[in-house]
Amino acid sequence: MRIGARAAVTDAGRKRRRNEDALVVEPPLFVVADGMGGAQAGEIASRLAASAFREYHEADALPGERRLEAIIQEANRRIYERAQTDTNASGMGTTVTAAIVDDERISIGHVGDSRAYRIRNGELEQLTQDHSLVADLMRSGRLTPEEAETHPQRSVITRALGTDSEVDVDTFDVAAEPGDVYLLCSDGLTTMLGDEEIGRILAEAKSLEAAAKELVKAANRRGGEDNVTVVLFAVEEGGPALDETARLTTDGRGDVDDLEDTLTGLEAPLLEADQPGEPGEHAEQAGWEALAEPASRPAPRPEARRVRRLFLSLAALAFVAVILVVAFWGLANAHFVGADDGGRVVVYQGLPYDVGAGVSLYRARYVSGLHAAQLSQAERRRLFDHDLGSFDAARQRVEAYATDRS
Ligand code: CA
Repeated sequence: MRIGARAAVTDAGRKRRRNEDALVVEPPLFVVADGMGGAQAGEIASRLAASAFREYHEADALPGERRLEAIIQEANRRIYERAQTDTNASGMGTTVTAAIVDDERISIGHVGDSRAYRIRNGELEQLTQDHSLVADLMRSGRLTPEEAETHPQRSVITRALGTDSEVDVDTFDVAAEPGDVYLLCSDGLTTMLGDEEIGRILAEAKSLEAAAKELVKAANRRGGEDNVTVVLFAVEEGGPALDETARLTTDGRGDVDDLEDTLTGLEAPLLEADQPGEPGEHAEQAGWEALAEPASRPAPRPEARRVRRLFLSLAALAFVAVILVVAFWGLANAHFVGADDGGRVVVYQGLPYDVGAGVSLYRARYVSGLHAAQLSQAERRRLFDHDLGSFDAARQRVEAYATDRS
């Protein structure tokens, strides 16, 4: 058995500014890690896990499962130690789901809720069991899969790298068959898309690269609530597959060219691909840089939305403040002429408005001896025009009419 096409995409999603996922595509090793923790701690944790897979070679001679166990324990030690000594990184952790391809089998090791799937004969099968609260509740029959999908604590994991000096790692082997495709992914994919939809996208895609891109796009269309990482690889008839030739030889399906195309593709939010001669390191660096590229995210960043909301709030506050200033100025300085309930002409201080519930914005300041009934219609229109002015001006206007009548 040998490794055929492979593809990987990681994307911040549409709601998160940072991408705390990390991946390794370094055949025969494939890894997805999903970090968590405040500030940049999640990124530190997932990247420490990824680098352990690249750098730690003391277990290379061990068979698949034991090799994965050893690397994951090493990764756990590195993250745990960093978390103990770096206050910015305290409390950080990461999931890890890793696959290593052997002649006859695929070994899987995992901690947390990043998953491994196998697609065989068009059927998608989840190979890993999530180490998460909702998965525990489902296994004990206290939660249905439907309830789990919307459970508020569905992202709470029960095991992680970096939170304790030792970690309980699940490892197992599956027999490889030619044509198998393996998918490693973070929960940003599986919380947005159901297995059925993941299976359909994989079945319809023309290549693994197209599938990886489409899976991430679909997760983003569905909301992109979390960072999304997808790693895909196929195994084929042939061999030996696991020495350097596997890394350096194209498999006749043109995947190397395709991968290069995709790396420069404008549509791809981010693609990381193993390239002959530049394995692993290249992939992570390409991803890390691309993550800082804002053009790859169509949705406004949460920060931009916050700034806009803040601006709108300030504008609304300023508007209210202006209204209040005008109102108080008006209440203090504005006067108009009107008539009271008894028909007497009155100079009012304030604004000629009733705001309802018996509240008025004016009060009588000068009650004249003149009656509205003494005025002609035209005179009333002129006097009661609600023109605002000083008390003296208003009073003089009233007195002028009163003097005429006396
Ligand atoms: Ca996640």
